[in-house]
Amino acid sequence: MQFAQVIGQAALKDKLRGLHQQNRISHALMLVAREGTGGLPIALAFAQYLVCERVNSKQNTQEPSLFGPTTQTVQTSQTFQTDSCGACPACTKAAAFAHPDIHYSFPTVSSKSIDKPKSSDFIAEWRTFLQEQPYGNLFDWIERIKEKENSQGKITTYECEDINKKLSRKSFESPFKILILWMPEMLEKEGNKLLKIIEEPQSDTLFLLVTENEQLVLPTLHSRCQVIRLPMLTSEEIQNSLMEREGTPAPVAKQMAQLADGNYREALQQVEHVEEGRQQRLRDWLNAILKTGPAAQVKWVEEISKLGREKQKQFLRYVIHVLETATRLQATGQLPPVGEEEAAVATKLNRLVGMEQLEIWVNELNKASYYIERNANAKMLFHALTLKVYHIIQDKVVFLMTTDPAE
Ligand SMILES: [Zn+2]
Repeated sequence: MQFAQVIGQAALKDKLRGLHQQNRISHALMLVAREGTGGLPIALAFAQYLVCERVNSKQNTQEPSLFGPTTQTVQTSQTFQTDSCGACPACTKAAAFAHPDIHYSFPTVSSKSIDKPKSSDFIAEWRTFLQEQPYGNLFDWIERIKEKENSQGKITTYECEDINKKLSRKSFESPFKILILWMPEMLEKEGNKLLKIIEEPQSDTLFLLVTENEQLVLPTLHSRCQVIRLPMLTSEEIQNSLMEREGTPAPVAKQMAQLADGNYREALQQVEHVEEGRQQRLRDWLNAILKTGPAAQVKWVEEISKLGREKQKQFLRYVIHVLETATRLQATGQLPPVGEEEAAVATKLNRLVGMEQLEIWVNELNKASYYIERNANAKMLFHALTLKVYHIIQDKVVFLMTTDPAE
């Protein structure tokens, strides 16, 4: 991740760059970041910045060093690289969360197959999490990996042993080893196993701790860290990010940003729950299919193709929910407890299509969702889906006409 991909936090980015430029980084930095402010994204971007080959070659003509006064290089504003380049081999690996010198520790859960969990057991899921939900919280993460209903995440004693092992090795490719430790508050007394390595780290090791609640961090650990507290995001930063990253319409983005109280995760949740967007999208889709025709269909496909995969899947799930509402209404003659808008659309749909058509339609939506997950081309997929739905509805019309009793 690059600094540019981290929402807001301009002053903090400057501060981190400055610390690096002046070789004043402490061996253990603790970012105190309330949920949704971007503690983890900042740590990811900073780690990538530190390993970036371009940053290292430009900024240190002498031996690269993170700490201490060994480098006397005076940097001019021309040579100062303000972000990782995003293109060198080190950046490519860091961006895929697979750089051999950037290590991750985070809470894990035990499962049937893993009884001594450590972070590396979950590295594939972790990479997906960072990719899809860098602003996610502990709940979001544990939801992804838990097997049992009430699993609590924990940074285990096995993980602490593993950290000691990993960090005692030499770095592989970069001049530094970096450990991003997410949620140190989930370390219990086993966290004391880390004290020695934090207290007397090798000179090339940087600990980047990211906590949401510093009160819960072991005092022995807390006292060994340089603490940096992240401010909440501004409403403007959240609003702009919702519009740019999520394709949220400006008025909704503005409203959600105000409600989110500086928390980007909360804003995303709000947007997800806000019905207007998807309700309108569904109405537009049905209108394009039933009334307004090919030009409107193309426009609709263009718009949905711009959303991320998660949002596309969410929309399909929402449509399935509405179709199932219609099915239940047809089967029982009663509306299940749903929103007003969903009830209205379901009622209208029932005038157009029968149970069989609804079932075929839901099937098609499930298939589409499956293909989106496997990286299908969104434009082609939604275009084909739109045509299919058109035919599903048309066939019903034909069906009605041919079976309608003549009297
Ligand atoms: Zn780079």
